[in-house]
Amino acid sequence: MAASTLPSRPVDESAAADTVPHWIGGRAVCGSGALLDVFDPATGKVARRVALATAEEVRAAVVSARGAFPAWADTPPVRRARVLARFLQLLNERRDALAALITAEHGKVFADAQGEVTRGIEIVEFACGIPQLLKGDFTDQVSTGIDNWTLRQPLGVVAGITPFNFPCMVPCWMFPLAIACGNAFVLKPSERDPSAAVLMAQLLAEAGLPAGVFNVAQGDKLAVDALLADPDVKAVSFVGSTPIAHSIYTRGAQAGKRVQALGGAKNHMVVMPDADLEQAADALIGAAYGSAGERCMAISVAVLVGSVGERLVPVLAERARRLKIADGMSPEAEMGPIINAAALERIRGYIADGAAAGAELVVDGRVDTASGRAFTVAGREQGFWLAPTLFDRVTRDMRIYQEEIFGPVLACVRVPDFAAAVELVNSHPLANGVACYTRDGHVAREFGRRIQVGMVGINVPIPVPMAWHGFGGWKGSLFGDTHAYGEEGVRFYTRQKSIMERWPEATPKGPEFIMPTAK
Ligand code: NAD
Repeated sequence: MAASTLPSRPVDESAAADTVPHWIGGRAVCGSGALLDVFDPATGKVARRVALATAEEVRAAVVSARGAFPAWADTPPVRRARVLARFLQLLNERRDALAALITAEHGKVFADAQGEVTRGIEIVEFACGIPQLLKGDFTDQVSTGIDNWTLRQPLGVVAGITPFNFPCMVPCWMFPLAIACGNAFVLKPSERDPSAAVLMAQLLAEAGLPAGVFNVAQGDKLAVDALLADPDVKAVSFVGSTPIAHSIYTRGAQAGKRVQALGGAKNHMVVMPDADLEQAADALIGAAYGSAGERCMAISVAVLVGSVGERLVPVLAERARRLKIADGMSPEAEMGPIINAAALERIRGYIADGAAAGAELVVDGRVDTASGRAFTVAGREQGFWLAPTLFDRVTRDMRIYQEEIFGPVLACVRVPDFAAAVELVNSHPLANGVACYTRDGHVAREFGRRIQVGMVGINVPIPVPMAWHGFGGWKGSLFGDTHAYGEEGVRFYTRQKSIMERWPEATPKGPEFIMPTAK
């Protein structure tokens, strides 16, 4: 059936309002599995609960996708693009509703959540160009009377497993292109902020996407394991921490699936002595503490070259202390809470560890500087609060340098010169993003060429590539062969077929036994 003639489907009324459901076969399903608390991190209270899929429910989502795949794969790309164009329009109309949902479950400030949705929308805009992106190559007369062309076809059922820190944008790195390419999709969102996925599923249905092409199986490790074990899942896109990314890559590949698994990060920003101090300080404060440092492209290490440390650290300390921390919906908030109590404890543990290891704790985010008491936000005392933390004179043997903290903690490392800065960055096993602040064009060029990191910013602190460029780190920040989205995404979600065609002449020539070459 033509996608554009399908009626839109309302949300299943049986889904309880305070339970975040799965989305299977074009409707919300509460399922029979356990329920997990979803918190509002600003208040620390349980806001709702999410249904955790059983293995049977994951299988139901895969079977629904498998059933929808043949007709969807056969739908002309231009018609698939029209469904995405309607989805794009709905996403733009509902951008603030999605952003408010993100703030309510993740905690990031509302304007930042709006920015997240916009970056997701950009991938949908890119996916709307799928007819052009899927155009094949053709060689006329590859040999006498023979033509050869290549085309790209979808894989079948593909799965996406996503982290808590971008509940809208990271799924949008995956499903818009996957379904534009003609695949059917099963999304396993983070169980910590699961609601955005269901709203996007509703909007896709409203846009006319046939039932079963996009499914959501909420859940935890059990749901992930079921997806990895399912022979009908042909490819897996994963974004999350490095140990899980590595495990998903290994297990998925062992099961014969195509896998791209994006992992964690420890992003450095090198500040050269000639850098504009104000610009570098702004960049570090925004990139280290924006979204409470819970961004895979957050800067967590400032590499201060030569004399710049003496001048920059006091400026950073002053600005870190001034940052406005509040409920993400409050208009003055610059930084919201941490995702949950366990993450808060983990980050506090890293701060204690850094201080014990001998790093200079310039600003301690665990403590309210005015009162000397544990840091909190008035009226929201049960929320998961931590203020910005700044360490100076961190060394490479310390855990706070080596490991991803994923919180509002910036570690300053001092190095004597540019060569030492490059060596430090290149020695780290994680290599997602990196930045260099300088006014010297030669230094900038050398940095871009020599640095062993997937995404590089020159005087740009968070160089997240636009939709048509593709996103991905190197080393322990990405396992797999292709980056997310962009043309790399199209290649990941399709496989190439080569067709060679000849219309036989009237007189048969008899069999040929030598390797065919152009004649
Ligand atoms: P996470 O690895 O804990 O979880 C990611 C996903 O894996 C979730 O859907 C979760 O349910 C699932 N999962 C968790 N434990 C699992 C297990 N043992 N087996 C199978 N599945 C499991 O990550 P998170 O805490 O949600 O997100 C933060 C992490 O994601 C950080 O490390 C951050 O750097 C990374 N991240 C990376 C990128 C990137 O582009 N490289 C982007 C965003 C986030």
